[in-house]
Amino acid sequence: MSEDTPVPYQVESRVSPPPAHCPNCDSLLPSDLGVLDCVVCTAQVKVEHSPTRESWEEEKVTCPSCRHVLVAGIDSRPADLRCANCKHEFTLTPKIIKVEINCPACDRGLRIPQRPGERKLRCPACMEGFKVNF
Ligand SMILES: [Zn+2]
Ligand SMILES: [Zn+2]
Ligand SMILES: [Zn+2]
Repeated sequence: MSEDTPVPYQVESRVSPPPAHCPNCDSLLPSDLGVLDCVVCTAQVKVEHSPTRESWEEEKVTCPSCRHVLVAGIDSRPADLRCANCKHEFTLTPKIIKVEINCPACDRGLRIPQRPGERKLRCPACMEGFKVNF
């Protein structure tokens, strides 16, 4: 068994599209561009945002293996990249958007990844279970 930390094969993108809502049911859509499926009403919604596409294409990424900085050059996420310096291959994954919510029972602030649809949560402070909708 090696003590070395394995080189990550995934790097999180720092660019995300602006939040978009389903025109049918007003739920939050997945954080992506193109034809998206609303997870609540299953409508298909086309979302485009060219500034995000440009930022994705021009995004600078540090190779997790050799720290060489490369330009993504791909205008969608996830994107499979290959470091020109060390040939390490890795995936640039979509940025995970976190939101602050407050526990309805004890008002403790929680930071959770924002995903469309209903989610059941349990407050780590008071153990109260509750639901959130995006
Ligand atoms: Zn919908
Ligand atoms: Zn590299
Ligand atoms: Zn609580």
